[in-house]
Amino acid sequence: MGSHLCDRLLNEGNDVICLDNFFTGNKNNIAQLINLPHFELIRHDIINPIYLEVDEIYNLACPASPVHYQFNPIKTVKTNVMGAINVLGIAKRTKAKVLQASTSEVYGNPEVHPQNESYWGKVNPVGIRSCYDEGKRAAECLMMDYRRQNSVNTKIVRIFNTYGPRMAINDGRVVSNFIVQALQNKNITIYGDGSHTRSFCYVDDMITGLITMMNSADDFYGPVNIGNPAEFTIMQLAQLIIKLTNSSSGIEFQPLPADDPVQRKPDISLAMGKISWKPKVELGEGLSNTIHYFREVLKVK
Ligand code: UDP
Repeated sequence: MGSHLCDRLLNEGNDVICLDNFFTGNKNNIAQLINLPHFELIRHDIINPIYLEVDEIYNLACPASPVHYQFNPIKTVKTNVMGAINVLGIAKRTKAKVLQASTSEVYGNPEVHPQNESYWGKVNPVGIRSCYDEGKRAAECLMMDYRRQNSVNTKIVRIFNTYGPRMAINDGRVVSNFIVQALQNKNITIYGDGSHTRSFCYVDDMITGLITMMNSADDFYGPVNIGNPAEFTIMQLAQLIIKLTNSSSGIEFQPLPADDPVQRKPDISLAMGKISWKPKVELGEGLSNTIHYFREVLKVK
């Protein structure tokens, strides 16, 4: 998402400083930007302080795939908490506006469906997902406390499952896993029985949502859900990807990971009402673009 955001912000005439520790990021995704005069890349880990002069900060730092954020969970908490503190420190000093990329994971395994922003969530505080869920919840808390205590202009966006070109082959999340497996005619790995649901937002729609929120009136600071409300079971996703790739893959059922939310679908009335945002790209179209990308990367026809 970060590379797509950089592309869009540069196209819109901004100067962009991109900070990445490249834990999950890939330099190839910003290769087209490296020589542009209004783009700077700094290899930096946001758990360490940094001094920059900026007007706006998009804090997207943190691996978002369960496989990656559980690889080093302590680091995940540090990225969310110390990262947010460092970002807010820059914002306080420079009076920059901060947009925090939060997550639908703050709702945990939700008892309310679809999820709206006033729902406080059902999160296991001591489970294997809590480094991410509680880390992001703490980051939201920090955004609100810096706003109340230090008048920092913060905004919180809760991002629901997002996919698109430039995902890593080994990202581990469901869309990229299924596409890579389908293109290689390997078994599609469904965790559980395939009845869990998710709602998938194409990356271009997500970036529009983030920028629209950043540019919105100062008195609207969220949290606001940004995601695509079209809900699919994981089985439906697998079948659609098999069809779109014309794959001969079979389906292999594997154990469901602990605390895997059973259902997820954003209520986006707030975004539609306050910032006139709603997604435009349907799942079939977004998947086709993503499949095209992975065909090139994997060099399969
Ligand atoms: N999933 C799956 N097979 C995979 C990867 C994920 O069945 O190869 C399931 C996972 O158990 C979850 C859903 O797909 O129910 C979405 O998982 P993902 O890791 O993409 O994101 P999450 O929404 O859980 O953070």
